[in-house]
Amino acid sequence: SRPILQLDALRMVYNADPGILARLSGRADPPVIAADDVSLDLHPGQTLAVVGESGSGKTTAGRIATLQERPTAGRVLYEGEDVTALTGAALKAFRAKVQMIFQNPYDALNPRLTVGQSLAEPLTLHGLVPRAGLRAAVIEMLEAVELRPAESFADAFPSELSGGQLQRIAIARALIIKPRVVIADEPVSMLDVSIRSGVMNLMRGIQRDTGVTYLYITHDLSVARYMADRIAVMYLGAVLEEGPAETLISRAAHPYTRLLIQAVPEHRASATRRTRIRLPGDAASQAGLPSGCRFHPRCPLAQPICREKAPPLAPVGAAHRAACHFADDVQTHGLGAATAAT
Ligand code: SF4
Repeated sequence: SRPILQLDALRMVYNADPGILARLSGRADPPVIAADDVSLDLHPGQTLAVVGESGSGKTTAGRIATLQERPTAGRVLYEGEDVTALTGAALKAFRAKVQMIFQNPYDALNPRLTVGQSLAEPLTLHGLVPRAGLRAAVIEMLEAVELRPAESFADAFPSELSGGQLQRIAIARALIIKPRVVIADEPVSMLDVSIRSGVMNLMRGIQRDTGVTYLYITHDLSVARYMADRIAVMYLGAVLEEGPAETLISRAAHPYTRLLIQAVPEHRASATRRTRIRLPGDAASQAGLPSGCRFHPRCPLAQPICREKAPPLAPVGAAHRAACHFADDVQTHGLGAATAAT
């Protein structure tokens, strides 16, 4: 299928030009490359999960996909059309098609409005439902996110509801205008572990019913595997590996992906268990990016060439790409590849 949303060679640099005063005073922060040639395709009705630690650029990619931020270079395409520079009415029309769900549901809800008013707002803003039909549309949406009795939830204020209920309402608010694409940035990570799978299953059910496309941003590989058709692994602003979810995990071709898989507890009780990515060494910051392969300071398989030459994101299987000089060895021998290669 043709991608519905594409990120094409995105580059995002913060503090590229700190200004003359900061430079003269010597207090200029170095530039931070939050996205370095990031290309990702979202296919209609599917979920692409973007997995990474903090500082990987996954949230930047999501913010650019919704045009909350404009890239330094590269393009965002919606149904093949370049939307990168949209403004005004065209931007508003784009926002009706591409919605965002945040980590903290409070960000999406005005505490002074009832739930019903909050849900009606986007319908009014985009002129989608006449005033007389608002209440019915709100009730229908509350039913869809399984908040019953819908009538009493419609009249409640955010302060009266739990975190899980609020996230369901934030999801309802993003979906009520029937967007084609939803960008979800860690939508369950602030919720109690016991209610995460409920919210994830709700999102999957809505996708089955409506064909909505998700870009699902998470630090948690097990959540990505549960939610996604495809997974992209990001590190210091770049995609290191990308492929079909099951293949990426069963035939991981990048040492970083292998380490992420090892970091997931093997006998986890459910896909929703809290698993922070823990790896040896610090994630370097994007400022002062390592030479050659950006992962080499933490890579157990690093060779001299890795410090000199950046590996391209190259095919390692069907619709599966990885950026490692030794991807074939890693795919065959896992993290034992170093001994196999020498
Ligand atoms: Fe490790 Fe070298 Fe592969 Fe980078 S290119 S991931 S340093 S083996």
